[in-house]
Amino acid sequence: MTKTAIKDEIDGIEKMTEEDFDRLIVMIKGLRRTLLEGSKILFKCPRCGNAYHSKPKFCSNCGIDLT
Ligand SMILES: [Zn+2]
Repeated sequence: MTKTAIKDEIDGIEKMTEEDFDRLIVMIKGLRRTLLEGSKILFKCPRCGNAYHSKPKFCSNCGIDLT
């Protein structure tokens, strides 16, 4: 689920049933959580893409020197 998909859903909000609306709320909460988790990733290994919350000296996945 992406922001764009949720915006499309919101465009049709007045045609939604209560059930659809509840489902949309759950989707928005899920997306927000995903985005917040993603924003904590400050560094990604340029070789393998392994994600870190801070820049390590070596990638623990592929062993590349990151200094
Ligand atoms: Zn790596």
